[in-house]
Amino acid sequence: MSLNDGAVDRYKEIAANLAAVRERIAAACVAAERSPDEITLVAITKTYPATDVLHLAALGILDVGENKDQDAAPKAAEVRTAGVDVRWHFVGQLQRNKARSVAAYAAMVHSVDRISLVTALEKAADGRTEPLEVLIQVSLDADPGDRGGTPTDQVGQLAAAIAATRSLRLRGVMAVAPLDGPPGPAFARLSEVAATLRSDHPNATVISAGMSGDLEEAIFHGATHVRVGSALLGKRAQLG
Ligand SMILES: *Cc1c(COP(=O)(O)O)cnc(C)c1O
Repeated sequence: MSLNDGAVDRYKEIAANLAAVRERIAAACVAAERSPDEITLVAITKTYPATDVLHLAALGILDVGENKDQDAAPKAAEVRTAGVDVRWHFVGQLQRNKARSVAAYAAMVHSVDRISLVTALEKAADGRTEPLEVLIQVSLDADPGDRGGTPTDQVGQLAAAIAATRSLRLRGVMAVAPLDGPPGPAFARLSEVAATLRSDHPNATVISAGMSGDLEEAIFHGATHVRVGSALLGKRAQLG
């Protein structure tokens, strides 16, 4: 390996953070009487460089996520150029005009929250060899506003639209905890929404919930994918 000292230090820092996150996940699984094998850790690498993605991959974390296409697209290209294969998760609010770019590198889009986006992604994913996996982002805010996410009563309609496409594969739901209340009851509601969805779409088994601050509550309420950024890579300088 030709890593310089700075890179070695960074690798060790991420390795230590990862060990701590894995311990938290393991403890949460004990509390929830679940197996850690049921949980996919998605490392959210926004604002951090492609070299951190390479460190994560070397540590066995092959699911990575980003929330802005203009950062994710070049990062994905850099990682690919380095000869490293990871699964990119797109977790941020998505504009229709970015659908084509995202469909070129993402394995899973967590943030599908409106019919017009389904239509755009369906077209964008048309040339792919594998369908693009998608999650319906559900709003858990008392007042569904500008944070993204569809109200719970519109999940069924959106699911039907996704299921009617050839190029998209409905895999489940995603949510972010509300700003104005405890995460536990909100994740419990998400779990009910997920159960209802599964009764019509048995393959929609993914529940993407939980971040650095609330992954324990999410795992308790059935999360299959936790999206962890700052606990792995450090506090971000900028908001995002
Ligand atoms: C940034 C982000 C995360 C990770 O947040 P942390 O608190 O840093 O773990 C998870 N999900 C989404 C949608 C995000 O934008």
